[in-house]
Amino acid sequence: MGTEVDPDHPGATDTLSVGRPQRAARAEEIGRTLRAQGIRGVVLSYVDTAGITRIKTVPVSRLARSAAWGVGMSTVFDIFLSDDSLTSTADLGSPDGDLRLVPDLDRLVALAAQPGWAWAPVDRYRQSGEVWPACQRSFARSMVARAAAAGLDLQMAFEIEWALGRGDSDGFVPACTGPAYGMTRLVELSDYARDVLAALEDEGVEVDQLHPEYSDGQYEVSAAAAAPVLAADRSVLVRQTIRALSRRHGLRPSFAPVVVAGHVGNGGHVHLSPWRNGRNLLAGGPGPIGMTAQGESFAAGILAALPALLAVGAPSVASYLRLVPSHWAGVFACWGHETRETALRFVTGNAGTADRAANLEVKCLDLAANPYLLVGALIAAGLHGVRAGLTLPEPVTGDPARYSAAELAALGIARLPTSLEDATAAFEGDAVLREAMGDMLADAVIAVRRAEADRLRGASPEEVVDALRWVY
Ligand code: GLU
Ligand code: MG
Repeated sequence: MGTEVDPDHPGATDTLSVGRPQRAARAEEIGRTLRAQGIRGVVLSYVDTAGITRIKTVPVSRLARSAAWGVGMSTVFDIFLSDDSLTSTADLGSPDGDLRLVPDLDRLVALAAQPGWAWAPVDRYRQSGEVWPACQRSFARSMVARAAAAGLDLQMAFEIEWALGRGDSDGFVPACTGPAYGMTRLVELSDYARDVLAALEDEGVEVDQLHPEYSDGQYEVSAAAAAPVLAADRSVLVRQTIRALSRRHGLRPSFAPVVVAGHVGNGGHVHLSPWRNGRNLLAGGPGPIGMTAQGESFAAGILAALPALLAVGAPSVASYLRLVPSHWAGVFACWGHETRETALRFVTGNAGTADRAANLEVKCLDLAANPYLLVGALIAAGLHGVRAGLTLPEPVTGDPARYSAAELAALGIARLPTSLEDATAAFEGDAVLREAMGDMLADAVIAVRRAEADRLRGASPEEVVDALRWVY
């Protein structure tokens, strides 16, 4: 298969032409199976810079053509905001031009809560066939490849928290009233919770657990660990499935960082572990609590990047209403062994299982994040730690909130950024993340964060929460 040079972008590679006939043939075959299952349409999704999942759909008859050539979509979604208005960067914001959305056939599944529909995440390309430089899913994949080139594999898992409201209110009226973690809350929504488990199983999503969480009407599903891009795909799929299923039950889920001002919010904690040659680098080593030297450096890279990572993983104005001390959201830039108030929690699991179970839980993240951007940024930060041979400070025990400002300073524990503006400033100063993302993507992140902050500047917590409760 030949690749052609695009006159507008000399040096660009027409990656999309590689394997085109095979993709088309495979999609034809998949289309036949889908039709036999009564499926009529395929949802093609990507997540924009602001964290909103955007879609196009095609009839099953058009799947093969979409897989071969992609479906058109404007470039402006990279600078779309959560209220559907636009900002711009030097590269982005023009009404000119078009991109191709190409479904990843390996990830295509029938949507259990939307009969007649299948879903696949897309990668985005220029019309010339070059990977679009601001394609977040391609960025995640390129960071996985970079890790592989350094001999590292990553395992990742997303925790998905949501507050379940009644479907008949624009405000939030919790769909259940039983206590946090309570059996009563499950009894109240027994059929719903069973349907969530069944739907995710039908979609091939491995679930570690489902439980009622702390906040009003709140539930959580933890997806099992998987390769990073798969984990990010599942974060999208799980939320869309919960959304559709909730609606079928007359309910409405909110994945927003905060659903009721002043209450505990929805986290989107990410668990991750670096592996080399089938061995978990967070176990069986001479470093802190059994980490290997490289495992420690990977963790230290993430710890060092946390202020900048917040602009990726806590990208909403509402994120900073969630990030308050003593809410298990992890607002201090420190780490601890199983400590739920440190931004980085080192989890080792049952005695004797650390070689499989040991992982880093990054707690300060939420579900407004674009999971692809987040996965890629976490890998970039960890790889930088390995390259630079970073080491961890002493672990912290207990809640750092009990210390005075002077004590925190003496212990070297900083509070993470407390506003989207401050997180964005930290991101702007982070050369590692910019190099990894490339200028087009990094500039889009900065522009979108600034515009989101501008849009809600001066709004009360209640106004912020009302504006963002149902968008993520
Ligand atoms: N809901 C908490 C948060 O905002 C997390 C609770 C937990 O540790 O699972 O991050
Ligand atoms: Mg939780």
